[in-house]
Amino acid sequence: QLTTQDVQSWFEKFSDKIKENKGYLSDLDTPIGDGDHGNNMARGVNAYEESFEQKQPATMSDTIQVFSMAMISKVGGASGPLYGSALMNMVKETKQIETIDSYEQLGNLVEQGLAGIKKRGKTEFEDKTMVDVWEPVAQDLKAGSLDKDQIEKAKEHTKDLIAKKGRASYLGERSKGHIDPGAASSALFFDALVEIVK
Ligand code: ADP
Ligand code: MG
Ligand code: MG
Repeated sequence: QLTTQDVQSWFEKFSDKIKENKGYLSDLDTPIGDGDHGNNMARGVNAYEESFEQKQPATMSDTIQVFSMAMISKVGGASGPLYGSALMNMVKETKQIETIDSYEQLGNLVEQGLAGIKKRGKTEFEDKTMVDVWEPVAQDLKAGSLDKDQIEKAKEHTKDLIAKKGRASYLGERSKGHIDPGAASSALFFDALVEIVK
């Protein structure tokens, strides 16, 4: 079972992971993008933490809303509005509930987030984006489990794909051989989830 408190711990752990991996995420974005993904995400999570302190959200839905707004208003890059729309869908999905009681429910929540990214980004699975992590994670959760190996595999799978969306798509074939930075930050998002679920 996940309470509002647990969701807040999830986002706190994610924020810490982003700050720890800021250099790594920007390094991944250097060969196939513009080298700013770690900085973009760090700006987003710092804005979340500030806004969280100010607003002290008391429900699950309001907590996710604060995070969503921080990502949309402070990130700048493509990833901001994409995470923002995922989170916004998750805000809607949690409006009427106080706790998440099953893997299935959690899977449905992530699936709603995924739908937000796909719609906003006009993205499909294996376009070499964050979708390639969100989609298998949603499926695994709905099937009743999630562990870090599954997440890592999904992230690694982006390495040999040809990018169809975002800056990396300008490189065509040459985008092969590099892990997608948004898939890597999404893996941190779900690693943080695994840590609070157990
Ligand atoms: P920018 O490309 O504007 O510098 P970031 O570097 O912060 O933004 O984010 C890049 C990441 O955003 C990519 O690695 C990819 O995962 C994700 N991304 C970009 N475009 C799309 C899209 N259309 N759909 C899904 N994800 C996307
Ligand atoms: Mg970038
Ligand atoms: Mg950029």
